[in-house]
Amino acid sequence: VDGGALMNDQRYDVVIVGGGLVGASLACALAQAWRVAVIESFPLMRAGAPAQYQPSFDARSTALSLSTVRFFEQLGLWQAIRRNAASIRHIHVSDRGRFGSVMLDADEEGLEALGYVVENQWIGNVLHEGLRRCAGLDVFAPASVESVSVHAAGTRVLVRQDGTVSAFDARLLVIADGARSGLAASLGMQTEHKDYEQHALIANIAHRKPHHGRAFERFTNAGPLAMLPLIDTPEGESRSALVWVQPPAEAARVAGLEPQQFLGALQQRFGYRLGRLTRAGSVHVYPLSLLRATEQVRSGVVLLGNAAHSLHPVAGQGFNLSVRDVAALAETLAAARAAGQEPGSLAVLQDFVRRQSFDQERTIGFSDALPRVFGSGLLPLALARDLGLIGMDVFAPARSVLVRHATGLMV
Ligand SMILES: Cc1cc2nc3c(=O)[nH]c(=O)nc-3n(C[C@H](O)[C@H](O)[C@H](O)COP(=O)(O)OP(=O)(O)OC[C@H]3O[C@@H](n4cnc5c(N)ncnc54)[C@H](O)[C@@H]3O)c2cc1C
Repeated sequence: VDGGALMNDQRYDVVIVGGGLVGASLACALAQAWRVAVIESFPLMRAGAPAQYQPSFDARSTALSLSTVRFFEQLGLWQAIRRNAASIRHIHVSDRGRFGSVMLDADEEGLEALGYVVENQWIGNVLHEGLRRCAGLDVFAPASVESVSVHAAGTRVLVRQDGTVSAFDARLLVIADGARSGLAASLGMQTEHKDYEQHALIANIAHRKPHHGRAFERFTNAGPLAMLPLIDTPEGESRSALVWVQPPAEAARVAGLEPQQFLGALQQRFGYRLGRLTRAGSVHVYPLSLLRATEQVRSGVVLLGNAAHSLHPVAGQGFNLSVRDVAALAETLAAARAAGQEPGSLAVLQDFVRRQSFDQERTIGFSDALPRVFGSGLLPLALARDLGLIGMDVFAPARSVLVRHATGLMV
């Protein structure tokens, strides 16, 4: 160990590396039953931050499915998240130049909403406030895991905080350090990578007409375009989150346009269903690719979140799938405890993988199929594609013929 003294050992049942959306969700789910440490490179959100939260025009957001909502309800966090969530009450799907348009409606399905769109920062605020309130949970932030070694008796993690390096011993180490996980790589846990050669252009857009909870998905041969409802800004501006998929060169050209030209190009493509588009926030371009760990568990170690699978944002499924993984891991560990098994034993972790493998295969397979069916004129493929931007899970409870049709391909 260089550059700092090595402090005494600290022992935990579970050490989680990464306090991002996934690591923090798992910590909240495990803290009642286990002694848990979370190690996060960035500082936690300030105490009391939720009370002072102001939505910012450019914040990135995530579409939460109803299964994710149920998970947060069980943790007692949903009421707080809901305060700054926009409900998706209708989904308007249209395919330019092919079959007309289709509307999915929450009322018709007997649901309060088909899903919710929430700013990531707000979810983070609520989760970090949750971490503060949990007994049995120690958060080290800002602190960084420097190395990990796995032994027969457990896993040892070296953590640097304020220039001091401490050793943490874990019965189970959860690596939730994001895509291209440095720690998984250091253990030799490999990742597959597939580039779709399409880019998603993401920006928040203000418009004249209120969205009334409508999400729009519009398809063209060049790629799909979605506008998802967001909560209004404090100034009362109506906003939606744009996801616009295009070939890389076209995405780069459009992203480089002056703001007014950009809005003009978008207006031409999207039309006037939300009235005149009045403002575009900063534009981000994401190459669409799939990253997937080929080895998700080994004795004493499990990969979660983007470290385990990172899907392209078009499917809007990455976080929702990870939340289902988190819930399944928490249940598997509770069952192991009741059976007197070690939380980090390979048999227990393989149970978790078995439990989630169908869901992972299905969700990853579906999001992987999306880029291939863009531009396809085949009706069933086109339907599946139409449902793709927001993701099948948002639709899962919906019982319309359209949804049943599409899920035939997805399940
Ligand atoms: C544009 C876009 C839109 C998306 N939209 C949706 C959507 O609508 N619905 C959906 O379900 N998903 C969506 N996703 C996916 C979603 O954002 C991810 O699934 C989610 O952010 C993954 O979280 P994570 O906690 O695994 O990783 P991260 O958010 O990357 O967190 C990893 C954390 O680990 C910390 N860390 C890393 N290394 C160390 C270390 N050595 N020591 C300590 N800490 C460390 C980092 O600081 C970070 O906080 C979208 C993704 C993108 C890019």
